[in-house]
Order: sequence, then C-alpha cells, then structure tokens
Amino acid sequence: MAVVNQKGGVGKTTTAINLAAALAEHEQRVLLIDMDPQGNASTGLGVRRDDREQSTYHVLTDGLSIDDAVRPTRVRGLYILPSHPDLAAAELEIGTADGRTRRLSDAMEAATAGFDYVLIDCPPSLNLLTLNALTAARSIIVPLQCEFFALEGLSQLLKTVEMAKAGINPKLAIDGVVLTMYDKRNRLSAQVADDVRRHLGRAVFETVIPRNVRIAEAPSFAEPVTTYDSASQGAKAYRRLAREILRKHAQRKK
Ligand code: ADP
Ligand code: MG
Repeated sequence: MAVVNQKGGVGKTTTAINLAAALAEHEQRVLLIDMDPQGNASTGLGVRRDDREQSTYHVLTDGLSIDDAVRPTRVRGLYILPSHPDLAAAELEIGTADGRTRRLSDAMEAATAGFDYVLIDCPPSLNLLTLNALTAARSIIVPLQCEFFALEGLSQLLKTVEMAKAGINPKLAIDGVVLTMYDKRNRLSAQVADDVRRHLGRAVFETVIPRNVRIAEAPSFAEPVTTYDSASQGAKAYRRLAREILRKHAQRKK
C-alpha cells in the first residue's frame, strides 16, 4: 500500500508508521519502505541518521537487494527499509534510464523475505519516487488533513495514479482516503469531513484520525503511538483503521 498525497504535512508518514504498527499487532509481518528523502518514517522508528548506508536510495540506484537493506524495529513484526538523504538525487541519477519507474517494483519482486503487508511512505510530490511507489503498490491510501484546501490537488494525484495504471500496474486500487488531524472542537474539521464524504463517498474510510498530542509525541521516542501510549485516542484510531483495511482486503479477495 502506497501512502500518497503530494501535499506535505497531511499525515502520510504518521499514517504509514502507525498503520504499519497496528497491522503488525494482527500477527502480520509488515514492512515499511521509506521513500521520502527526509526520512521521517526512518527516524520515527528509531533508525539513526548516521546509520542509513543500506537504504531505499541504494536499492533504487545501486541494485542493493531489499533483503539486505531491511531491518527489524523495536515493534514485533514490523520491519523498515530506511531512506537516505541522497534519495533526493535519485531522480536525477535514474531520470532517463530504462524502466526508471519500475526500480522499486523490480526490487520487491526479487526479494525473498516474505511480508504480509508492505507500506510505502511517499515524499510530498508527484515525482519519480512516487511513481516508483505507485508502480510497485497494489493499492493506495490517501491521507487528507481536515483543513480548508483538503481536496485541492486530488485530481492531479488521481491523474498520476492513472499513469501508473496505464503503465505496468493496471490493478492498482484505491483503498481509500483517510481523514487526519480531525479536531472535534473545531467546526471547520466537521465541515471539511462532510464535504469530503459528499464528494468521495465510499472511497473515504469510516475511521477518522483525531488530532492527538500522543501521535505527535511518539516519533521523538522512536515509537509508533500504538506502543508509546497504547490506550491513547490516536492508538485506538489507527487500530480501527487497520481493522477496516483488513476487512476491506478480505472482501476484495472474496
Ligand atoms: P506528511 O508525511 O504528510 O508530511 P506527517 O505525518 O509528517 O505528514 O505529519 C505532519 C505533522 O503533523 C507532524 O508533525 C505530525 O507529528 C503531526 N501529526 C500528524 N497526524 C497527527 C495527529 N493525528 N495528531 C496530531 N499531530 C499529528
Ligand atoms: Mg512524510
């Protein structure tokens, strides 16, 4: 599942980390791939900045195998493929090479380590890194922040999804849009949520992620919110989202 939205600060990385951790609680082996040069998902799960010599950058540009780059986290069942700041230059390095959108997908096919779920945390742009993620993914999750311009840019994102489908990934599905940073004391949050549901209907997950300070604090302790404060509203919300996704996928299989 690629977690994608070209806007920054909408909750992609937060959703990638916490959804991955919540899925791992279901006895699933889960891999989080950090495709953002900023590496917030890597930092948030405890990978030090000076310990990133085996990263998505090396997988995409040097042919490093995913098996050799994946490492465990402190959360049982959750693994991470960290990013590297040089990933920002990967686009230039592989920009015109053949199969440039397929680098991640090829590396994933070549990997032998088995995972039940792979989440890809995308950078805040519709660049070659995001296209690699969309080419490798079976489905996408789109976090939308409950603020005024939430829907802005969505049509551009959907065009990019169509591009990946027209390429080699015709089965790419949209798991759904997840509303993030919902503030029940703020009328704008409720208005935006209503508006988004009116426009997108069943494409919007029932689960809404509330604004919750525990969610914001957890990364500085290198933990997902599900272990940092297991009883918090944030942890509960991400567990609900995980259950909703497991249900959806079970139905899709049938
Ligand atoms: P993106 O990856 O889309 O750029 P992030 O996941 O990094 O967005 O989130 C942006 C900021 O908002 C971060 O500082 C994060 O801690 C904070 N944040 C995200 N979701 C929540 C939430 N539900 N409650 C409180 N803070 C949140
Ligand atoms: Mg991010």
